[in-house]
Amino acid sequence: MTPNRPSPEPDLSSVPFYEGLQQHCLLVQRCPHCGTIQLGELYCNHCHADGLQWVPASGRARLHSYVHMHMSYHEGFADQIPYNAATIELEEGPRFYTNIVGMDDQALVIGMPLQVQYSTLSTGTVVPVFAPRTEQ
Ligand SMILES: [Zn+2]
Repeated sequence: MTPNRPSPEPDLSSVPFYEGLQQHCLLVQRCPHCGTIQLGELYCNHCHADGLQWVPASGRARLHSYVHMHMSYHEGFADQIPYNAATIELEEGPRFYTNIVGMDDQALVIGMPLQVQYSTLSTGTVVPVFAPRTEQ
């Protein structure tokens, strides 16, 4: 039996993010004072205001960086080797770690356009993954 993959553990700065993902909605934080868009914070990174609002993101992103994983660092991923681990940059600005799906890992290109998709873990938690997007 394949061991479970580790699942994100939402904290005060990310509970709404994961609640949105359960509804297949990618949310980002918007500062009500200066409009800065960010993720994973309790206060605005620019003006330190509180009361950050959660707003839907476009789901469009670009590949910022990636690696090909050839070793198993957690038994929950052993059956996925080789796989990619990537950082993406949302059109709105925030970056985060994810996986790129729906394509050959050897064809990954920094800056390529991506679109969010949603992947449900064995725990029921939904996480964002990204697939290639045809630019319009
Ligand atoms: Zn602000």
